[in-house]
Amino acid sequence: MKKTSENRRNFIIKSSMAAGALSLGSSYLLSCSGKNKPAESTTEKAPATKESLGIALVGLGSYATYQLAPALQKTENCHLAGIVTGTPSKEEVWMKKYDIPKANVYNYENYDEIANNDDIDIIYVVLPNFMHAEYTIRAAKAGKHVICEKPMAISVEECEQMIAACKENDVHLSIGYRLHFDPYNLKVSELGQKEVYGKVKKITGAHSFKLNDPHAWRAKQDLAGGGPLMDIGIYVLQGALYTMGKNPIEVSAKYGEVTRPDIFKDVEQSIDFTLKFPGGATADATTSYYDSGNFLRAEAEKGWWELKPAYSYSGIKGETSDEKLTYPPINQQALQMDDFAKCVMNNEKSKVPGEMGLRDMKIITSIYESADKKEPVKLVW
Ligand code: NAD
Repeated sequence: MKKTSENRRNFIIKSSMAAGALSLGSSYLLSCSGKNKPAESTTEKAPATKESLGIALVGLGSYATYQLAPALQKTENCHLAGIVTGTPSKEEVWMKKYDIPKANVYNYENYDEIANNDDIDIIYVVLPNFMHAEYTIRAAKAGKHVICEKPMAISVEECEQMIAACKENDVHLSIGYRLHFDPYNLKVSELGQKEVYGKVKKITGAHSFKLNDPHAWRAKQDLAGGGPLMDIGIYVLQGALYTMGKNPIEVSAKYGEVTRPDIFKDVEQSIDFTLKFPGGATADATTSYYDSGNFLRAEAEKGWWELKPAYSYSGIKGETSDEKLTYPPINQQALQMDDFAKCVMNNEKSKVPGEMGLRDMKIITSIYESADKKEPVKLVW
């Protein structure tokens, strides 16, 4: 774990200057896009006038192939207009399957030429985490609006550079936080933030799966920036934050045992963390690559609620101390991308902006710092 700790400390030190002014209030968590429009964050660029904006997917791996491209067949405000891939054999397959013209197919070398392509309004970065910053910044410089997958990047410093590049180039930036478009998770935000059952006292949650591939980029510190916390623990963190509608003031964390040293050489196999919120509420979370787990629960003064599973693409189930929650099925990714396209069209800020990704990276950095130092870390907003 030595390399991991050193890397983390380096980016903790680099990012400490960023800690000060960052804060996302509850309005980010509950309101629909466009209803919150902080003056400093909207762009000067003229709103797009097209009825449907063209999206180019960058990185045609599992999430782009099996979730985003199918979701883009269901969107109303945007459509799949282009692809960026380093694998030539994927080009023909995608062009044929989704009727994409050759002129809208790019690779990592000619990616910047996308600047000259009016069919493409939005670039969706779906690459391994260490490539998020570079491809977001290059997209911004090409004058394209950007959706970047979670985690936003592998350091606080990178997140800041991405936000700065998007501001400088007058383009919108959002993070692929699809659960802000899921009715069950939105209900959790409402129950917690509106104190429907009184003040929240305790949150618990888990998100884990078994990673068996020793060659997976997800198990490499330089490619993933961390282990399950960066990849799936981030959903529990987010769940706690949108339940509370406020930022934590202290984190403490502990790495779990490594039972697969062949895979987990430089990222954690599991980590438990606790967030402390102003007013005394706490969130206890666990995330691992050696288990299965998927829930988010909150206990408040006069009742409780739970989602289990909480973070899946579909099939989320929910219950409160009063009733079962039931919502019609939706496509989270289609709603998320349509919402961003509308934000671009109306020149309004996304409700899952780059600043939210930066906030989460700051908390994740502090969680690793706490586990490395074996002591609680205070957060100053
Ligand atoms: P993946 O491994 O299936 O795909 C990664 C893609 O990047 C592949 O097409 C690969 O060829 C390409 N690539 C380019 N350069 C690479 C390099 N140097 N090393 C490895 N791959 C390289 O991964 P994925 O599951 O599609 O995840 C991609 C991103 O999407 C990640 O940031 C992940 O966190 C995010 N994701 C988000 C969700 C969500 O629900 N929002 C779900 C899954 C993944």
